[in-house]
Amino acid sequence: PLFAYAPAPESRSVVDIAPRYGLYIDGEFREAADGQVFKTVSPSSEEVLSEVAQGGEEDVDAAVAAARRAFGPWSALPGAERAKYLFRIARILQERSRELAVLESLDNGKPIRESRDADLPLAAAYFFHYAGWADKLAHAGYGPDPRPLGVAAQVIPWNFPLLMLSWKIAPALATGNTVVLKPAETTPLSALFFADICRQAGLPRGVVNIVTGDGSTGAALVAHPGVDKVAFTGSTEVGKAIARTVAGTRKKLTLELGGKAANIVYDDAPLDQAVEGIVNGIFFNQGHVCCAGSRLLVQESVAEEVLDALRRRMATLRVGDPLDKNTDVGAVNSREQLDRITALADAGEAEGAERWSPACDLPSTGYWFAPTLFTGVTQAHRIAREEIFGPVLSVLTFRTPAEAVEKANNTPYGLSAGIWTEKGSRILWTADQLRAGVVWANTFNKFDPASPFGGYKESGHGREGGRHGLEAYLDV
Ligand code: NAD
Repeated sequence: PLFAYAPAPESRSVVDIAPRYGLYIDGEFREAADGQVFKTVSPSSEEVLSEVAQGGEEDVDAAVAAARRAFGPWSALPGAERAKYLFRIARILQERSRELAVLESLDNGKPIRESRDADLPLAAAYFFHYAGWADKLAHAGYGPDPRPLGVAAQVIPWNFPLLMLSWKIAPALATGNTVVLKPAETTPLSALFFADICRQAGLPRGVVNIVTGDGSTGAALVAHPGVDKVAFTGSTEVGKAIARTVAGTRKKLTLELGGKAANIVYDDAPLDQAVEGIVNGIFFNQGHVCCAGSRLLVQESVAEEVLDALRRRMATLRVGDPLDKNTDVGAVNSREQLDRITALADAGEAEGAERWSPACDLPSTGYWFAPTLFTGVTQAHRIAREEIFGPVLSVLTFRTPAEAVEKANNTPYGLSAGIWTEKGSRILWTADQLRAGVVWANTFNKFDPASPFGGYKESGHGREGGRHGLEAYLDV
């Protein structure tokens, strides 16, 4: 195995590679200082995939020290030299994308079609994009000599493990910062694979360090006095705790948190296209998407027609083996997340909303949740207010555009929204009224590295992507 410290096993298949993976610190894989490990489990089979080092305070210390040592020489490199490493990483991501897509689907539970066609190409695209900025920072509008911040502590969630890593690491390196990244405890494997890619690309030691572990590892990293910048993607609750830790220090902070997006369908929308967008909006990645279109707001006059078409479309979704190319909806990432989704869906029923799922045979082992539709939802229901982070759609109706906007904005979150209408003027008016960082028109869940992404209100602050994403890693 290329990226583990354990002895090479006979088999070279992805499932059977070394069962134990180390922390990646200062260009080497190593065990945790206290030898602690945790297990990662395939959410579709409940089989143990690997044992991974559980980083503690001593390991965080070593990683931050390595990143500090690397910072001087790395930030002093001409941008064009840093760009070469980023381009190399992007190309290796492409070359090794088949292995990585399988690994991501095994560890996360997402359909291979999505890891192959979305996660992997986008991860490479973010590295290509920021590679292109590395030698143009003087022309980014921040004055002739914007400076990197230093050591960036980056903590990411489990829903798009490699892609969230790319959103964080690519702009940090392009701007001359060094990184200690902590992946989520249920999905650490692609980050360790990425460490091997850094090695393959010849990236100087210490520029990227990966410390695996749970929330306590993340908390130690964020609190470490040697860190200059904290970038977090995850739940609003943990984001607030991190903001409290960072308050009163010199550290800069960006937060990408939860969402409860409205997907607004007007009566003049292209309805077939809208139904595809609704399905993609909520069932993509099992609904484990911060910007998922989890609240459908449909105009009353077309509600019945849309819901009929939606039920027919949902009945064609194939739920099952993430490694089957025909699968549309894979496994829920963990038992804990399955319990959370189940509890909120049960609350929806208990509060009087009407629950519907198509008939589907769910596998007997693993963590599964059938695509679910709730109608008769009011704004008071928990399923209309709380982020479910699962394949559950809450449907509300509206009569006028003003009512649509009022309902869409009636949430503490403000990450994204969708609008479906043939009328350009209505798109512009609605988008202008919505308090959401990203608004899609006649599409949903479209990502582009050139476009900034981030939240209003409790969905966070700061932007990732595009020129705005540079700002989070520069002193201007
Ligand atoms: P989470 O907040 O539980 O965990 C995220 C990461 O933080 C994990 O790596 C975890 O180990 C770590 N962590 C936990 N407690 C910590 C602490 N006290 N200090 C430091 N680190 C800690 O979130 P999750 O369940 O992994 O992810 C789901 C959430 O992420 C959802 O709310 C989703 O909306 C959000 N999300 C947001 C975006 C965005 O761009 N806005 C993108 C993806 C996911």
